[in-house]
Amino acid sequence: MGSSTASRIRCDIDFDRDGRQAAYLHAPLSRDTSGWGVVQIPIIVLKNGRGPSVLLTGGVHGDEYEGPIALSRLAATLRAEEISGRVIIMPAVNVPAVLADKRLSPVDGRDLNRCFPGDPRGTFSQMLAHFMDSVVLPHADVSVDLHTAGHSCDSALSTNMHYVADEAVRRRTMETAAAFGAPFNVVFWGVDEGATFTSSVERRGIVSIGTELGGWGRVNIEGVRIGERGVRNVLKQWGVIEGAPDTRQRDGSAGTRHMMVKGAKGYCFAPRGGLFEPLHRTGERVSAGELAGYVHFVEDVDNPPLELRYGASGLIWMAAGPGRVQRGDCVAVVMTDYDEAEAARA
Ligand code: CA
Repeated sequence: MGSSTASRIRCDIDFDRDGRQAAYLHAPLSRDTSGWGVVQIPIIVLKNGRGPSVLLTGGVHGDEYEGPIALSRLAATLRAEEISGRVIIMPAVNVPAVLADKRLSPVDGRDLNRCFPGDPRGTFSQMLAHFMDSVVLPHADVSVDLHTAGHSCDSALSTNMHYVADEAVRRRTMETAAAFGAPFNVVFWGVDEGATFTSSVERRGIVSIGTELGGWGRVNIEGVRIGERGVRNVLKQWGVIEGAPDTRQRDGSAGTRHMMVKGAKGYCFAPRGGLFEPLHRTGERVSAGELAGYVHFVEDVDNPPLELRYGASGLIWMAAGPGRVQRGDCVAVVMTDYDEAEAARA
């Protein structure tokens, strides 16, 4: 690797060494208090003999808490002797954003999850994205990236995946998502996906699932439970730890319900800024044409609220909280039951 493409992030982990390593990546960040300063990013690697390699990440967005909690606990309790293969755990990938409790990086104002595959000479987020893509991902067979909907939305507790063109990879991805055992798994085509971590993972032919385990800027108790169970379920499914995945659902069903969001109709955007009053919670059934909520202009007299309507029928995957929205903000996403034939139609 030439110096122009080498990462500037120092990594003391030997990914091929058996046993448990808990360390920090050292990402250079010059600042007022230290010209030679670094940002320390926690990484825990467990390896035991041969077997699949599972990458578990949280805190790509700093205001999403269930993943970092679940992964910190896993990192503290999982022992190298009980695994076959390798588990790479990064509970707080985007440490500056995690410490600032923000979606975007307080260092460069970027969304790390829109910076892939990154640039070793770019901004802090671009440098970090490049490290994840070029140094970490080559060591993974499957990636589980734990997210929530952050401050702006709440989410139905779910895994998610892209509709991957390769049928074998798609099937393996769906099996992994089903093993995770969230109430829903959402197959989607994305709105702005080329620069996301998931897209980088897929470009390398690695199985990629994400999660949405809550949101609205609080810790979702059930989201933590599903997240903790889910990462262990994936390790079981891939044969890294012993046992069968437990995918039982609170409603008595045996496992995950597969859903999809295809096309623009599932997304509801605010056409103007204002105070949004939603009418439905995540998981609720809605119909195309039904009232989704109102944008209020409470600073005006005699200015009636704007009515927003759903473009698709299904269940609410994402729901904006009651609060101020800007023109162009996504305020609801509707998911429908997964249909293989409809999904395959371009
Ligand atoms: Ca997120």
